[in-house]
Amino acid sequence: MKGFHYVKKTLCAEGVSVRILAEKHGTPLFVYSRGYLINNFRNLSSAMAEVNPLICYSVKANSNASVIKTFLREGAGVDVVSGGELYRALRAGVKPSKVVFAGVGKTRDEIEYAVRRGILFFTVESEEELVRISDCAGRMRKKARVAIRVNPDVDPGTHRYITTGKKESKFGLDIARAEKAYKMAARMKNVEIAGLHIHIGSQILSGRPFAKALKRVKNLCADLKKTHKSFKYIDIGGGIGIQYQPDQEPLTPAEFAALLVPVLKRMGLSVVMEPGRYLVGNAGILVCSVQYVKKNHFRRFVVVDAGMNDVVRPPLYDAYHEIVPVIDRNAKKVATDVVGPICETADFLALDRAMPVVREGDLLAVMSAGAYCSSMGSNYNSRLRPAEVMVNGKRSSLIRKRETFNDLIRNEM
Ligand SMILES: *Cc1c(COP(=O)(O)O)cnc(C)c1O
Repeated sequence: MKGFHYVKKTLCAEGVSVRILAEKHGTPLFVYSRGYLINNFRNLSSAMAEVNPLICYSVKANSNASVIKTFLREGAGVDVVSGGELYRALRAGVKPSKVVFAGVGKTRDEIEYAVRRGILFFTVESEEELVRISDCAGRMRKKARVAIRVNPDVDPGTHRYITTGKKESKFGLDIARAEKAYKMAARMKNVEIAGLHIHIGSQILSGRPFAKALKRVKNLCADLKKTHKSFKYIDIGGGIGIQYQPDQEPLTPAEFAALLVPVLKRMGLSVVMEPGRYLVGNAGILVCSVQYVKKNHFRRFVVVDAGMNDVVRPPLYDAYHEIVPVIDRNAKKVATDVVGPICETADFLALDRAMPVVREGDLLAVMSAGAYCSSMGSNYNSRLRPAEVMVNGKRSSLIRKRETFNDLIRNEM
């Protein structure tokens, strides 16, 4: 299933015209396809069926409650990286026993919150964090479950800002240090060794780095399984890449599973996965409207009402997002910079892109905007965060109101 397609030259989200959504809710507007979200979840889940993984949706990819709930209804858990994400997920109705908590900077308050609610496990990034978790749990007279995050030192072949499993990154512990950390954990009364965690990066388009990382931790897992009754989980993280560019080959769940499932089966542990982008990336678009077409001697700029405050990925990661007209007029294509209203030269959605000629008032859709767009959005330049809409077949519902000027100053004294 594709969430977005043209019907008689008009872009539709499932059975709803994107133009009508834009008229009703204004722009910029995030539009998500519920069917596509569910489809992605089920594809991954059935590809991995032989190891029956707990799929913990990575909330940071898109933290809207309706998106989280859509996956919870499919049986998902969540991967959170802050107290705020834990709060959102619990409010959306997740069972604490299906929550894993990652991140290098967990504060005492965040740890206590998660211990109090009884999450499945923390993925632990350092010895110091382990000590802190043990201390917090001890004060609360509880036991905290942990999985040490191992940094397997593999290159996933993605942008360096979203590479997390190489030895120079801030994430996890190398294998030798992880072994020592497990020995430390074994001596802690208020810590239970639950599993081992790896997450090597994001937007990874080959299954091989995942398999390589898993092979690097296989022996350690086997040892831990022998020595600790409580050691039950291998958490293989997220990172499955999606198609952003028309000529890009995505990593399919089938290819991913073909490489990983045989190894996972032999390991004999419960499998946890933490997909974010794969589940939501292509299930969302950002609709914006053309404000000005401005030309100078060198460039043709299409100035739209969405910018780096809504979609920061192009300037931050050199990311490519396809941009298409909502009404396809078959216009001729010319080299265009699509830019936003923000007062920064880095405020672009596309540079030097062959785009159909557009005029003031036309609607454009930034594709693949479901992951790491809304959730990375900001109010920079005091711009209002967009409204968000979820489409389900022929129906649509507003799942986040557009902000108002009052929202901007709400917390100021
Ligand atoms: C960000 C993150 C994920 C999700 O990554 P995707 O590339 O969106 O699948 C999973 N696990 C951890 C620990 C993360 O930090």
